[in-house]
Amino acid sequence: MSVLKFIQKLLKIKHFRVTGFEFKNWGKELWLEVKPYKNGRCCPACNKRGKIAWTAEKPRVWRDVPVCGIQIFLVYHPREIICKTHGRIQEIIPWAAPYARVTHRFEYLLLIYSTIMPQKAAARLLKISTSTLSDLLHRTITRFRKGHKIRALTHIGIDEIAYSKNRKYATIVYDLKKSHVVWIGKGKGRKTIDQFFKEKLSNNQRNRIIAASCDMAQTYINAIEHWCPNATLVLDRFHVVKALNNAVDEVRKEQWRKAGKEEKVTLKGLRWLLYKHSSKRTKEDVNRLKALYMNGNRRIHRAWVLSDEFEQFWDFDNQVDAKDFLDNWCKTANRSRLEPIKNFVKLVKKHEDRLLPFVDTRLTNAIAEGLNRIIKIAKNRASGFRTLDAFSDIIFLMVGDLDIPAQIPLSFRTI
Ligand SMILES: [Zn+2]
Repeated sequence: MSVLKFIQKLLKIKHFRVTGFEFKNWGKELWLEVKPYKNGRCCPACNKRGKIAWTAEKPRVWRDVPVCGIQIFLVYHPREIICKTHGRIQEIIPWAAPYARVTHRFEYLLLIYSTIMPQKAAARLLKISTSTLSDLLHRTITRFRKGHKIRALTHIGIDEIAYSKNRKYATIVYDLKKSHVVWIGKGKGRKTIDQFFKEKLSNNQRNRIIAASCDMAQTYINAIEHWCPNATLVLDRFHVVKALNNAVDEVRKEQWRKAGKEEKVTLKGLRWLLYKHSSKRTKEDVNRLKALYMNGNRRIHRAWVLSDEFEQFWDFDNQVDAKDFLDNWCKTANRSRLEPIKNFVKLVKKHEDRLLPFVDTRLTNAIAEGLNRIIKIAKNRASGFRTLDAFSDIIFLMVGDLDIPAQIPLSFRTI
């Protein structure tokens, strides 16, 4: 076996040939001269051979996957050819996408590493700087997502998410049926969400949306009601529960502020307990909550009982009973003389028509919350993204509506 053949076999090079090699930089880099099989000259549009029209004077260099710490580069003089059908065009480069600076298999590793580890670690394994990595990642993902269209969207979820340390916000749109992210936009205002409906969906697509879920922010509600005439709007359960929990917490905070030294001891650690779902409480937790009543913290106790009772709402299976329940609950809650709870009642009354459809549709952003967890993991790994681009890249890569690594030619998808 010749040395060139050996290198070719060792580095698992298929679909093209190694014609020469040179170690550079004290053996840290291996530069390979390469050539497409059968002298190339193939048209990228029709795969037919053409006549050579022009050969690049300067060789082009592609970065390949490092091996045992040695950086590998491919060198070739690409040519322009005349195709009978497509005219003057650059020939197919078998190992890389047109105008890419790295090989297909480098791109594949870049994508896979970026989904499973922090960018710093991925950059180290690939022997490039972190900034080069995020730049390459952005180019690759942008190229694959270019021209990608949203398909068969019937159930949407809209939510906001903070993406940098100084709490910059983005709006995320989910396909709740297929559980992936279809769009990300800067900001959380009406302008942002309008941009999605206007630019990303056709009139037909908007009419085909039959259900939508969002939080109680008027911005998203208005946008959905404006753009999706056939959609049933369901307020997201998670956000409703959160609003009620926050109201209970307000009551706790009020009491805490008024409490003396001794009383504060009994109130300590109560915050987390009040946020706990009833099904997750231990016996001790329940005893502690019951003791509030005996200890004279009746306001907190009352708020807790009310929020516990509200949980039943999610179990109803017909809207008539659910509405009866809601009316009764609101009446009791209004008599509680707890301002934060009364404010929650106002919210419920205002959005009643958007709460009741939950009973039939069972639609929630829960899928989105699941996706959000993955997004948060990605965010923590990168310890907050400075730009929305970098954040969107990772979201689309991990939970987007296009399988990005699957866009790399199959034979180059090796780890
Ligand atoms: Zn052609």
